[in-house]
Amino acid sequence: MSVFEDALKKSKIFTTPDKKEVPVILDPVIPIVSTLSKDMITPHFSWKEALFLPTWNRMANTSDGLNDQVKANLTKVFSVLEEIRTLWGNKPITISCAYRPKAYNALPSIGGAPKSAHIDGMAIDFYISGVKCDEVRKTLIPLLDTFKIRMEHKDGSNWVHIDIRQSTPRYFIP
Ligand SMILES: [Zn+2]
Repeated sequence: MSVFEDALKKSKIFTTPDKKEVPVILDPVIPIVSTLSKDMITPHFSWKEALFLPTWNRMANTSDGLNDQVKANLTKVFSVLEEIRTLWGNKPITISCAYRPKAYNALPSIGGAPKSAHIDGMAIDFYISGVKCDEVRKTLIPLLDTFKIRMEHKDGSNWVHIDIRQSTPRYFIP
């Protein structure tokens, strides 16, 4: 007997006047639509990518300063990254770094600016497989206003820094 038949057998049975058993139709399983899995921050990026701290080899947590505001900022900046991903024909994007707790940002090996937008969860460093970062920057410069982002002017670096801090100039030297 299949699992389904077994379930039917255990479900309520209607009995019609001629005693013919008519099984009640089981409630259909209603799929959850337009809801991301709890592991995902946006359709193509995970919370692990947003919160992983390579030097500490773990994800950031509340004791590091991770709070709802930081999470909201991360959601916003990763939503922009989704648009950038679309722009490049859905090529995979690798995250070098997104959220950095203050203490992590201050590590000499990280060398983050004291007021880095990464501390607020507003920034992402990334690269696109098979595309030079200088090429990515060149394409994004005229789109910074559209995406309402800033970008670091750092020729030759092997990552692209974008952030959603609203100050000018949008293309800035770190
Ligand atoms: Zn950065």
